Amino acid sequence: MTSYKELGLVNTREMFAKAVAGGYAIPAFNFNTLEQMQAIIQAAVETKSPVIMQVSKGARNYANGTILRYMAQGAVEYAKELGCEKPQIVLHLDHGDSFELCKDCIDNGFSSVMFDGSSLPYEENIRITKQVVEYAHAHDVTVEAELGVLAGVEDEVASEVSHYTKPEEVVDFSTRSGCDSLAISIGTSHGAYKFTPAQCTRDPKTGKLVPPPLAFDILHEIEKRLPGFPIVLHGSSSVPQDEVDTINAHGGKLPDAVGIPEEQLREASKSAVCKINIDSDSRLAMTAAIRKHFDEKPGDFDPRQYLKPARENMKKMYIHKIVEVLGSNDKL
Ligand SMILES: [Zn+2]
Repeated sequence: MTSYKELGLVNTREMFAKAVAGGYAIPAFNFNTLEQMQAIIQAAVETKSPVIMQVSKGARNYANGTILRYMAQGAVEYAKELGCEKPQIVLHLDHGDSFELCKDCIDNGFSSVMFDGSSLPYEENIRITKQVVEYAHAHDVTVEAELGVLAGVEDEVASEVSHYTKPEEVVDFSTRSGCDSLAISIGTSHGAYKFTPAQCTRDPKTGKLVPPPLAFDILHEIEKRLPGFPIVLHGSSSVPQDEVDTINAHGGKLPDAVGIPEEQLREASKSAVCKINIDSDSRLAMTAAIRKHFDEKPGDFDPRQYLKPARENMKKMYIHKIVEVLGSNDKL
């Protein structure tokens, strides 16, 4: 058993309370490589932002749970080395799909876990979330739950259709499950293809897809019923079109990749939404930099030559999100 406290990590309780009260959101960036971790920490330290480093089941299988635990510990020490005296870093399990997986993460240094029972029947979702909450709270670990189904693909999590969260269920669900935060479905979606062209309109000038707006009416209804309760948005990459264009200009093929407009995420950050998950944008920033590098310097074969610009590009994106979209800068 390794407690996250031994690693210098924190749970989400205090940072969410401050974020809800302060009208900003905490960035939750997915990671599974050294360069992503370095870029996340550099960005968080430079902007003085709390940060959630999150790992999906697939990322844990890819990178190894033990290595990730030490990477998170390394992230805390690295932040201190960069001049941040008291970093606020969370190691969070994204989309835990069983009590056993959540327990294993809690036993191995995670400070926060998500149990995603959104595809289960309502009562079953409550039952397992409650089981996770009881174990987690005994170890001072916080728990995110989910109600409503997002469309799109994220590692093993895939759904073709979305079901908006029903506001009339949120009080009963959060009270009976005891969860600390709630991921809701209001039209965000996993992956780099969040909407099909049929769901969008097309900008006549650029030919780019314009996605449908998020269901702010549902968000506001949930806020009214659960005042001050931390709300989480998954699938909230904006899929920056300059990165998509760079990828496509250098041999890539991502036609009609589309995300959530940043103005809408900015608006959501000011509400009870206090955690915004961003994964695809990091993948796109990394891929764009690497594709461009190889196109311009086909003779390079030292990974440092192409991973360094990839890391720089991700860091730039993380800083942009923190300062321009989520507003979590200077909140340490
Ligand atoms: Zn998600």
